[in-house]
Amino acid sequence: IQDNWLTLADGQKMPQQGFGVYKLTDPTVFTQTIQSAYDDGYRLFDTAQMYGNEADLGKALKSLNVDRDDYFITTKVAESNQGYQKAIDSVKESLKKLQLDYVNLLLVHWPINGSFFETWRAFEDLKKDGLTKSIGVSNYGMVHLQYLATQASEMPVVDQLECHPWLSEKPMIDFNKQHHIVTQAWAPLGRGRIFEESAIQELAQKYGKTPAQIILRWHFLNGLSFIPKSAHASRIKENADIYDFALTDQDMVQMDSINKNVRISQEPELVY
Ligand code: NAD
Repeated sequence: IQDNWLTLADGQKMPQQGFGVYKLTDPTVFTQTIQSAYDDGYRLFDTAQMYGNEADLGKALKSLNVDRDDYFITTKVAESNQGYQKAIDSVKESLKKLQLDYVNLLLVHWPINGSFFETWRAFEDLKKDGLTKSIGVSNYGMVHLQYLATQASEMPVVDQLECHPWLSEKPMIDFNKQHHIVTQAWAPLGRGRIFEESAIQELAQKYGKTPAQIILRWHFLNGLSFIPKSAHASRIKENADIYDFALTDQDMVQMDSINKNVRISQEPELVY
Protein backbone atom coordinates (compact mmCIF):
# COMPACT_ATOMS: atom_id res chain seq x y z
CA ILE A 1 0.00 0.00 0.00
CA GLN A 2 2.79 2.49 0.83
CA ASP A 3 4.42 1.92 -2.59
CA ASN A 4 1.48 2.95 -4.74
CA TRP A 5 1.30 6.71 -5.26
CA LEU A 6 -0.32 8.64 -8.09
CA THR A 7 1.11 11.86 -9.49
CA LEU A 8 -1.46 14.65 -9.67
CA ALA A 9 -1.54 17.16 -12.54
CA ASP A 10 0.12 19.78 -10.32
CA GLY A 11 3.04 17.44 -9.56
CA GLN A 12 2.12 16.45 -6.00
CA LYS A 13 2.17 12.72 -5.29
CA MET A 14 -0.88 11.17 -3.58
CA PRO A 15 -1.24 7.65 -2.13
CA GLN A 16 -3.58 5.64 -4.33
CA GLN A 17 -5.27 4.01 -1.33
CA GLY A 18 -6.32 6.07 1.64
CA PHE A 19 -8.37 5.83 4.80
CA GLY A 20 -11.72 7.63 5.18
CA VAL A 21 -12.74 8.83 8.62
CA TYR A 22 -16.41 9.68 8.02
CA LYS A 23 -18.47 8.59 11.06
CA LEU A 24 -15.36 7.81 13.04
CA THR A 25 -16.54 9.92 15.92
CA ASP A 26 -15.50 8.24 19.16
CA PRO A 27 -12.53 10.36 20.33
CA THR A 28 -11.38 7.63 22.73
CA VAL A 29 -10.64 5.16 19.93
CA PHE A 30 -9.78 7.66 17.20
CA THR A 31 -6.05 7.83 17.91
CA GLN A 32 -5.81 4.07 18.18
CA THR A 33 -7.63 3.61 14.87
CA ILE A 34 -5.36 6.04 13.01
CA GLN A 35 -2.32 4.35 14.56
CA SER A 36 -3.56 0.92 13.34
CA ALA A 37 -4.14 2.32 9.86
CA TYR A 38 -0.69 3.94 9.80
CA ASP A 39 0.94 0.69 10.96
CA ASP A 40 -0.84 -1.15 8.14
CA GLY A 41 0.63 1.29 5.62
CA TYR A 42 -2.13 3.86 5.09
CA ARG A 43 -0.67 7.32 4.51
CA LEU A 44 -3.69 9.25 3.19
CA PHE A 45 -6.35 10.29 5.71
CA ASP A 46 -9.56 11.79 4.38
CA THR A 47 -11.68 14.04 6.60
CA ALA A 48 -14.07 16.98 6.08
CA GLN A 49 -15.32 19.98 8.02
CA MET A 50 -18.72 18.28 7.98
CA TYR A 51 -17.45 15.14 9.77
CA GLY A 52 -16.75 17.08 12.97
CA ASN A 53 -13.57 15.10 13.65
CA GLU A 54 -10.75 17.29 12.30
CA ALA A 55 -9.54 18.00 15.85
CA ASP A 56 -9.53 14.27 16.68
CA LEU A 57 -7.54 13.59 13.53
CA GLY A 58 -5.12 16.39 14.45
CA LYS A 59 -4.51 14.80 17.85
CA ALA A 60 -4.07 11.35 16.32
CA LEU A 61 -1.55 12.66 13.77
CA LYS A 62 0.48 14.34 16.52
CA SER A 63 0.63 11.13 18.48
CA LEU A 64 1.92 9.20 15.45
CA ASN A 65 5.10 11.18 16.05
CA VAL A 66 6.30 10.97 12.43
CA ASP A 67 7.46 13.60 9.90
CA ARG A 68 4.84 15.74 8.21
CA ASP A 69 5.90 14.29 4.84
CA ASP A 70 4.94 10.82 6.05
CA TYR A 71 1.21 11.43 5.70
CA PHE A 72 -1.16 13.07 3.24
CA ILE A 73 -4.21 14.89 4.62
CA THR A 74 -7.40 15.78 2.76
CA THR A 75 -10.17 17.97 4.11
CA LYS A 76 -13.29 19.37 2.46
CA VAL A 77 -15.05 22.70 2.74
CA ALA A 78 -18.64 22.24 3.88
CA GLU A 79 -21.57 23.58 1.90
CA SER A 80 -22.29 26.12 4.66
CA ASN A 81 -18.72 27.47 4.35
CA GLN A 82 -18.81 28.15 0.63
CA GLY A 83 -18.20 31.70 -0.64
CA TYR A 84 -14.83 33.50 -0.81
CA GLN A 85 -14.27 34.74 2.74
CA LYS A 86 -16.10 31.92 4.48
CA ALA A 87 -14.02 29.34 2.61
CA ILE A 88 -10.76 31.11 3.55
CA ASP A 89 -11.72 31.52 7.22
CA SER A 90 -13.05 27.98 7.56
CA VAL A 91 -9.89 26.43 6.09
CA LYS A 92 -7.77 28.38 8.59
CA GLU A 93 -10.03 27.00 11.31
CA SER A 94 -9.66 23.46 9.91
CA LEU A 95 -5.85 23.81 9.95
CA LYS A 96 -5.99 24.88 13.59
CA LYS A 97 -8.07 21.84 14.48
CA LEU A 98 -5.78 19.56 12.49
CA GLN A 99 -2.71 21.22 14.09
CA LEU A 100 -1.19 21.54 10.62
CA ASP A 101 0.36 24.37 8.58
CA TYR A 102 -1.11 22.97 5.37
CA VAL A 103 -3.28 20.16 4.07
CA ASN A 104 -2.20 18.15 1.05
CA LEU A 105 -5.56 18.30 -0.66
CA LEU A 106 -8.51 20.63 -0.21
CA LEU A 107 -11.83 19.69 -1.78
CA VAL A 108 -15.09 21.53 -2.36
CA HIS A 109 -17.42 19.00 -0.70
CA TRP A 110 -20.44 19.48 -3.01
CA PRO A 111 -21.22 21.74 -5.97
CA ILE A 112 -23.79 24.34 -4.97
CA ASN A 113 -25.37 27.26 -6.69
CA GLY A 114 -24.55 30.82 -5.74
CA SER A 115 -21.00 30.78 -4.46
CA PHE A 116 -19.62 28.34 -7.02
CA PHE A 117 -16.88 30.53 -8.53
CA GLU A 118 -16.12 32.53 -5.36
CA THR A 119 -15.34 29.31 -3.48
CA TRP A 120 -13.00 28.19 -6.22
CA ARG A 121 -11.24 31.58 -6.29
CA ALA A 122 -10.66 31.15 -2.54
CA PHE A 123 -9.19 27.69 -3.21
CA GLU A 124 -6.78 29.10 -5.82
CA ASP A 125 -5.64 31.75 -3.31
CA LEU A 126 -5.31 29.23 -0.45
CA LYS A 127 -3.03 27.18 -2.68
CA LYS A 128 -0.96 30.25 -3.64
CA ASP A 129 -0.58 31.04 0.07
CA GLY A 130 0.63 27.50 0.83
CA LEU A 131 -2.29 26.45 3.03
CA THR A 132 -2.94 23.51 0.72
CA LYS A 133 -0.67 21.73 -1.76
CA SER A 134 -3.45 20.75 -4.16
CA ILE A 135 -7.02 21.79 -4.85
CA GLY A 136 -9.87 19.63 -6.05
CA VAL A 137 -13.58 18.99 -5.91
CA SER A 138 -16.01 16.34 -4.79
CA ASN A 139 -19.30 15.19 -6.28
CA TYR A 140 -18.69 17.23 -9.44
CA GLY A 141 -20.11 15.81 -12.66
CA MET A 142 -19.16 16.83 -16.19
CA VAL A 143 -21.52 19.79 -16.19
CA HIS A 144 -19.93 21.21 -13.02
CA LEU A 145 -16.39 20.79 -14.30
CA GLN A 146 -17.22 22.32 -17.67
CA TYR A 147 -18.87 25.27 -15.95
CA LEU A 148 -15.90 25.70 -13.59
CA ALA A 149 -13.55 25.71 -16.60
CA THR A 150 -15.22 28.88 -17.92
CA GLN A 151 -13.70 30.94 -15.07
CA ALA A 152 -11.04 28.92 -13.25
CA SER A 153 -7.35 29.85 -13.54
CA GLU A 154 -6.44 26.38 -12.36
CA MET A 155 -8.56 23.24 -12.71
CA PRO A 156 -9.12 20.67 -9.94
CA VAL A 157 -6.59 17.84 -9.85
CA VAL A 158 -8.92 15.42 -8.01
CA ASP A 159 -12.65 14.72 -8.24
CA GLN A 160 -13.86 12.60 -5.30
CA LEU A 161 -17.00 10.73 -6.34
CA GLU A 162 -19.28 8.04 -5.03
CA CYS A 163 -18.00 4.98 -6.88
CA HIS A 164 -18.36 1.24 -6.26
CA PRO A 165 -19.48 -1.83 -8.25
CA TRP A 166 -23.12 -0.65 -8.24
CA LEU A 167 -22.10 2.80 -9.50
CA SER A 168 -19.04 2.30 -11.66
CA GLU A 169 -19.10 5.82 -13.22
CA LYS A 170 -17.09 4.77 -16.30
CA PRO A 171 -18.00 7.77 -18.52
CA MET A 172 -17.20 10.18 -15.68
CA ILE A 173 -13.88 8.47 -14.97
CA ASP A 174 -12.96 8.67 -18.68
CA PHE A 175 -13.92 12.34 -18.75
CA ASN A 176 -11.76 13.05 -15.69
CA LYS A 177 -8.85 11.14 -17.23
CA GLN A 178 -9.05 13.21 -20.41
CA HIS A 179 -8.88 16.34 -18.25
CA HIS A 180 -5.98 15.12 -16.08
CA ILE A 181 -8.20 14.83 -13.02
CA VAL A 182 -7.70 11.84 -10.71
CA THR A 183 -10.98 10.20 -9.74
CA GLN A 184 -11.06 9.24 -6.08
CA ALA A 185 -13.77 6.76 -5.05
CA TRP A 186 -15.76 7.45 -1.90
CA ALA A 187 -17.86 4.64 -0.45
CA PRO A 188 -15.58 2.35 -2.49
CA LEU A 189 -17.16 -0.63 -0.70
CA GLY A 190 -20.68 0.62 -1.30
CA ARG A 191 -20.84 1.01 2.50
CA GLY A 192 -20.67 -2.77 2.83
CA ARG A 193 -24.01 -3.32 1.09
CA ILE A 194 -22.76 -5.06 -2.04
CA PHE A 195 -20.74 -7.97 -0.67
CA GLU A 196 -23.50 -10.47 -1.45
CA GLU A 197 -23.29 -9.91 -5.21
CA SER A 198 -22.66 -13.35 -6.70
CA ALA A 199 -19.97 -12.08 -9.11
CA ILE A 200 -18.01 -10.72 -6.13
CA GLN A 201 -18.58 -13.85 -4.03
CA GLU A 202 -17.31 -16.05 -6.90
CA LEU A 203 -14.11 -14.06 -7.27
CA ALA A 204 -13.58 -14.04 -3.51
CA GLN A 205 -13.74 -17.84 -3.54
CA LYS A 206 -11.52 -18.13 -6.60
CA TYR A 207 -8.69 -16.08 -5.02
CA GLY A 208 -9.19 -16.92 -1.35
CA LYS A 209 -9.82 -13.24 -0.64
CA THR A 210 -12.75 -11.42 0.99
CA PRO A 211 -15.42 -9.54 -1.00
CA ALA A 212 -14.01 -6.23 0.32
CA GLN A 213 -10.55 -7.14 -0.99
CA ILE A 214 -11.93 -8.09 -4.43
CA ILE A 215 -13.75 -4.76 -4.72
CA LEU A 216 -10.72 -2.72 -3.62
CA ARG A 217 -8.47 -4.61 -6.06
CA TRP A 218 -10.95 -3.73 -8.84
CA HIS A 219 -10.66 -0.02 -7.94
CA PHE A 220 -6.88 -0.33 -7.86
CA LEU A 221 -6.73 -1.93 -11.32
CA ASN A 222 -9.07 0.75 -12.66
CA GLY A 223 -6.38 3.27 -11.67
CA LEU A 224 -8.61 5.08 -9.20
CA SER A 225 -7.68 6.43 -5.83
CA PHE A 226 -9.96 4.94 -3.14
CA ILE A 227 -10.55 5.59 0.56
CA PRO A 228 -12.38 2.78 2.37
CA LYS A 229 -13.39 3.31 5.97
CA SER A 230 -13.58 0.86 8.86
CA ALA A 231 -13.43 1.30 12.60
CA HIS A 232 -12.16 -2.26 13.17
CA ALA A 233 -8.44 -3.00 13.25
CA SER A 234 -8.87 -6.39 11.55
CA ARG A 235 -10.87 -4.89 8.67
CA ILE A 236 -8.49 -1.97 8.30
CA LYS A 237 -5.69 -4.52 7.86
CA GLU A 238 -7.81 -6.68 5.54
CA ASN A 239 -8.58 -3.69 3.31
CA ALA A 240 -4.87 -2.94 2.97
CA ASP A 241 -4.00 -6.52 2.06
CA ILE A 242 -4.84 -6.39 -1.64
CA TYR A 243 -1.40 -6.26 -3.22
CA ASP A 244 -0.58 -9.97 -3.43
CA PHE A 245 -3.06 -11.09 -6.10
CA ALA A 246 -4.36 -9.96 -9.48
CA LEU A 247 -7.73 -10.02 -11.22
CA THR A 248 -7.69 -11.08 -14.88
CA ASP A 249 -9.22 -9.00 -17.68
CA GLN A 250 -12.15 -11.39 -17.63
CA ASP A 251 -12.58 -10.95 -13.86
CA MET A 252 -12.61 -7.18 -14.42
CA VAL A 253 -15.37 -7.56 -17.04
CA GLN A 254 -17.32 -9.68 -14.53
CA MET A 255 -16.91 -6.93 -11.90
CA ASP A 256 -17.96 -4.25 -14.42
CA SER A 257 -21.15 -6.16 -15.19
CA ILE A 258 -22.45 -5.54 -11.63
CA ASN A 259 -23.04 -1.84 -12.36
CA LYS A 260 -26.64 -0.72 -11.75
CA ASN A 261 -26.09 3.06 -11.67
CA VAL A 262 -27.40 2.99 -8.11
CA ARG A 263 -26.40 5.83 -5.79
CA ILE A 264 -26.20 5.78 -1.97
CA SER A 265 -26.22 9.56 -1.73
CA GLN A 266 -28.14 12.27 -3.49
CA GLU A 267 -27.50 13.25 -7.10
CA PRO A 268 -25.28 16.35 -7.14
CA GLU A 269 -27.19 19.54 -7.90
CA LEU A 270 -26.99 20.96 -11.41
CA VAL A 271 -25.26 24.32 -11.39
CA TYR A 272 -26.01 26.90 -14.10
P1 NAD B 1 -17.23 2.56 2.51
O1 NAD B 1 -17.65 2.04 1.18
O2 NAD B 1 -15.78 2.79 2.76
O3 NAD B 1 -17.84 1.55 3.56
C1 NAD B 1 -17.53 1.60 4.90
C2 NAD B 1 -18.34 0.54 5.62
O4 NAD B 1 -18.15 -0.73 5.03
C3 NAD B 1 -17.87 0.39 7.06
O5 NAD B 1 -18.55 1.27 7.91
C4 NAD B 1 -18.19 -1.06 7.37
O6 NAD B 1 -19.53 -1.17 7.74
C5 NAD B 1 -17.99 -1.72 6.03
N1 NAD B 1 -16.65 -2.34 5.88
C6 NAD B 1 -15.46 -1.73 5.67
N2 NAD B 1 -14.48 -2.64 5.48
C7 NAD B 1 -15.05 -3.86 5.59
C8 NAD B 1 -14.56 -5.18 5.52
N3 NAD B 1 -13.29 -5.44 5.26
N4 NAD B 1 -15.46 -6.20 5.70
C9 NAD B 1 -16.77 -5.96 5.95
N5 NAD B 1 -17.29 -4.72 6.03
C10 NAD B 1 -16.44 -3.68 5.86
O7 NAD B 1 -18.10 3.87 2.79
P2 NAD B 1 -17.84 5.32 3.42
O8 NAD B 1 -17.28 5.26 4.77
O9 NAD B 1 -19.07 6.08 3.21
O10 NAD B 1 -16.76 5.96 2.43
C11 NAD B 1 -15.37 5.97 2.70
C12 NAD B 1 -14.86 7.36 2.93
O11 NAD B 1 -15.20 8.21 1.83
C13 NAD B 1 -15.51 8.07 4.13
O12 NAD B 1 -15.01 7.63 5.36
C14 NAD B 1 -15.19 9.50 3.81
O13 NAD B 1 -13.86 9.81 4.18
C15 NAD B 1 -15.37 9.55 2.29
N6 NAD B 1 -16.71 10.05 1.88
C16 NAD B 1 -16.78 11.17 1.12
C17 NAD B 1 -18.01 11.69 0.72
C18 NAD B 1 -18.07 12.91 -0.13
O14 NAD B 1 -19.15 13.47 -0.34
N7 NAD B 1 -16.96 13.37 -0.66
C19 NAD B 1 -19.20 11.05 1.12
C20 NAD B 1 -19.10 9.89 1.90
C21 NAD B 1 -17.87 9.40 2.26
